Amino acid sequence: MKKHNFNAGPSILPRIAIENTAKAVLDLNGIGMSLLEISHRSKDFEAVLDETVLLFKEQLNVPENYKVLFLGGGASMQFCMIPFNLLNKKAGYLDTGVWANKAIKEAKGFGEVNVVGSSADKNYSYLPKGYQIPTDIDYFHITTNNTIYGTELKEDINCPVPLIADMSSDIFSRPVDVSKYAMIYGGAQKNLGPAGVTFVLLREDILGKVDRKIPTMLDYRTHIKEGSMFNTPPCFAIYTVRETLKWIKSLGGVKKVEEMNKAKAKLLYDTIDNSNMFVGTVAKEDRSLMNICFVMKEPYKALEEEFQKYAQLNGMVGIKGHRSVGGYRASTYNALPIESVQALVECMNAFEKLKA
Ligand SMILES: *Cc1c(COP(=O)(O)O)cnc(C)c1O
Repeated sequence: MKKHNFNAGPSILPRIAIENTAKAVLDLNGIGMSLLEISHRSKDFEAVLDETVLLFKEQLNVPENYKVLFLGGGASMQFCMIPFNLLNKKAGYLDTGVWANKAIKEAKGFGEVNVVGSSADKNYSYLPKGYQIPTDIDYFHITTNNTIYGTELKEDINCPVPLIADMSSDIFSRPVDVSKYAMIYGGAQKNLGPAGVTFVLLREDILGKVDRKIPTMLDYRTHIKEGSMFNTPPCFAIYTVRETLKWIKSLGGVKKVEEMNKAKAKLLYDTIDNSNMFVGTVAKEDRSLMNICFVMKEPYKALEEEFQKYAQLNGMVGIKGHRSVGGYRASTYNALPIESVQALVECMNAFEKLKA
């Protein structure tokens, strides 16, 4: 049976990116060796890395004065590298969920942390609004898409201090005005590639302003200087990122991808809103286009597990909600075709009919 992959991460990738990676794993460019067994400093791999950086800049419309790095350690390593490199005295963070909190926890080891706004009071089911970004902070950190709760900041805010965004789960899902950010980063494994590579996009002028000694591997300047080749980069994962970026380009770019994402999300949110059985968990204006969270309402709550099984039998994969929200979460990342959302919607409608 056809599987509909709603996994939250690692998650669905464009089929063509997987196929092309598979070919390169067997034989890269016809050189008679696998992508997995050649030097990262070989001509063939250097060309891969260069093109990945180029495509990243081109498809996200990155201004000249930004560097694009591909590192290891995941977004979680960035939670520590950011304050290590940038927090002198005080930083501001927006508390929008589990990932934001992990970033806050790390920053506290390096200086004062001002939690500028929080939506913890309602289990992160909305985005904080009306907060004032202080001007005496070294940077302001936000999480644009809250993968677990299904909230998403879909615009690029104005910020009086360097703005840093964790875009792990919505990178390349919409056009971004990069110039409003000092740094954008994330793990690739939600919307861009396989697990193992972290993208970092930053303006060099924010560096070199802290007094502490930074270990070589944790210093952004090391990786800028060496073009992500200070140590062996995650070659395999970078290759798939390149193929995913080529796929985005072939579709017509992020603007087109955004249209597709909006159509998918609308279909599912409309179904939820018109249902007597399902209900969304997030404030409507803050709803994510990437992670769509919903639960069952009374008198159907007792059927939650039954629907889970029913959906699974019909080919739906990965729709169980995160334990901190419960219910369901359908991740509708870039590579998920609208046919999968249609299949889920049919499944929801059929189950509701069955139980009405
Ligand atoms: C998944 C996720 C992370 C964690 O990424 P790792 O690469 O596993 O460290 C961080 N932030 C957000 C928003 C995520 O969705």
